Amino acid sequence: MNYKEATTEELLAVLDGLETKLFALGYASNQIGFAGETQDPANAARDRGEASATLHLLSQNILCSDEMYATIMELNERREELPEWRQDQVRVLIRDWEETNVIPAEENADMTRLIVEANDVWHSAKVENDWDSFAPYVDKMVSKLIHFAKLKDPEKDPYDVWLGVYEQGANMEFYDKFFEEIKATIVPLLAKIVQKGNHPDTTCLQGTFDKDIQYKMTREVAEMEGLNMDALVIEQSLHPFTNSTSSNHVFITTSLLENDMASNIYSTLHEGGHAMYEQGINPMFNYTSLRGGTSLGIHESVSRFFENLVGRSREYADTALAVSKKYFPEQFKDTTADEWYLANNVAMPSLIRVEADELTYSLHVIIRYEVERALFAGEITAKDIPSVWAKKYHDYLGVEVPNDTEGCLQDTHWSGGSFGYFPTYALGSAYGAQYIAAMERQGIDTKAAMASGDLTPLSNWLSENIFQYGRSKDPSWLIEHACGEPFSAHYFCDYLTQKFSAIYDL
Ligand SMILES: [Zn+2]
Repeated sequence: MNYKEATTEELLAVLDGLETKLFALGYASNQIGFAGETQDPANAARDRGEASATLHLLSQNILCSDEMYATIMELNERREELPEWRQDQVRVLIRDWEETNVIPAEENADMTRLIVEANDVWHSAKVENDWDSFAPYVDKMVSKLIHFAKLKDPEKDPYDVWLGVYEQGANMEFYDKFFEEIKATIVPLLAKIVQKGNHPDTTCLQGTFDKDIQYKMTREVAEMEGLNMDALVIEQSLHPFTNSTSSNHVFITTSLLENDMASNIYSTLHEGGHAMYEQGINPMFNYTSLRGGTSLGIHESVSRFFENLVGRSREYADTALAVSKKYFPEQFKDTTADEWYLANNVAMPSLIRVEADELTYSLHVIIRYEVERALFAGEITAKDIPSVWAKKYHDYLGVEVPNDTEGCLQDTHWSGGSFGYFPTYALGSAYGAQYIAAMERQGIDTKAAMASGDLTPLSNWLSENIFQYGRSKDPSWLIEHACGEPFSAHYFCDYLTQKFSAIYDL
């Protein structure tokens, strides 16, 4: 095909053909991944790995083909003729193409081997509390990532490059400002809470909860949240997660704990939020590279919105308690909504990020960000991490780190080569607080919606302002467009201050 001489319609037809192939391969990969986490027999692991790797390679071959490159470049030349969504599609594909092509295949394969090895070492290092065995891998990975970042964008600071990969538009300047602001709010607030020491009573949540009954409840929680049950699969897995093949086919999982039923409710609201986003993307994008959420931070903004801003609000406590009473009537027969609310909003310094509460969670993220930032700047190397980690946990959270297993070895991210990823977790909560303020300004009574248990006014706003765009718009565009102003952390700071000052009577 002579791309220069082809009509725009012909080029778009070629593009659609390539995109459909990418969709089909992605569909298969996601199905395989989901089955692996939920139902495959133990012996299937190797076959699954083989199939996934091959599908991944086939996808890359299509994305990096001469046909794809010539088509998107020629369409980019003619962007003025294209409707807006097609312009977005071409822009996103060029970005995906660059992401995949800029690093030589051999170096990429080296990195993959390093990650496999590092992940293995990390698993045993964590069990054996042996940071020294894992530390060389951290240094090796950071130096490789610095090298890759220079290939991607020689003008930029390497850590900025990686921050931008996980959240387009974000960099150290952006996160420094954000984190300084929330640190200045949370650290003193937490110190006051600890000093006061009057934690809410959690007796009402303690008991034994049949897992089959909990699993039935999961479905009802997802329905209450407003998910389209005809486009949703719910299963169980070791760690809860969400994935999707298109807006028509979204998977979530929950992990059921016999001694903690509230964890199932909040984890379902969280994954349900991710699923709501995926279901709400413009169906026109289903077979294109615009399907799926735009960034980790925006995805997390929706999941944490439903888990915390809605799910852990006093207003929604009546609904959450009512469903708990329906499935576990004996346990909750005397529990009041006030008791439920307080029991699910204990704020306490802790060591483990994934178990942290709504108030302290961001501090765990900030510590990882500061460590990564120092590593990339060459201010520290991996051998320094345990002592830097311990000092920061002491300074920000007031806890002493007893060992590296519960310290710098706790998360899997570094062993997978993910540096610059953590900050998106904290960003999500702050985006969410800004959504609520914007909804209120635009005339939505968010408290009334939460109190009624019918969250439609909130999900409609999210659909219209965030979900529908899929990957077609970047995070900063979405925030400005939805909220009428750029991102600002003060909504989140105000929210935390008000909520926890009231709970702890500060
Ligand atoms: Zn999440």
